[in-house]
Amino acid sequence: MAQQSQPPPITPPLPQPESDFYWEKCKAHELWLRHCKACDSTYFYPRDICPDCFSRDTDWIKSSGRGTLYAFSIVHRGPVPAFRDRAPYITALVEVEGGARIPTNLVDIEPDPANVKIGMALQVVFEDLDDKITLPKFRPAS
Ligand SMILES: [Zn+2]
Repeated sequence: MAQQSQPPPITPPLPQPESDFYWEKCKAHELWLRHCKACDSTYFYPRDICPDCFSRDTDWIKSSGRGTLYAFSIVHRGPVPAFRDRAPYITALVEVEGGARIPTNLVDIEPDPANVKIGMALQVVFEDLDDKITLPKFRPAS
């Protein structure tokens, strides 16, 4: 009797010391971003040095979780087995308030170009991937 094969699980992101705080806050369903006090830039991914002016005078700020769609692609064929049964799905670059752009997925929206519009208002939601990693994703703002 043939055994039904299961796709391998999604490989979770691997937190680094610079991003531990970010992942802890995601687990608490809060979105926190790095902010540069020298040039007032808010940026992603989390790192100690500002990518805009290279200052180390940075801190954390709590994001409202509101943003707009900057770019997207609808994936019809998952690139690896773990994603094949998720297709079609939407990969996106979301610009959150403050200016940071986060690579993520859109959820709670039909993956059809007629529904997905650049500039549309979005709100963060959180997907608990396992007991350590929670991913921020975005849905249309209500
Ligand atoms: Zn800066």
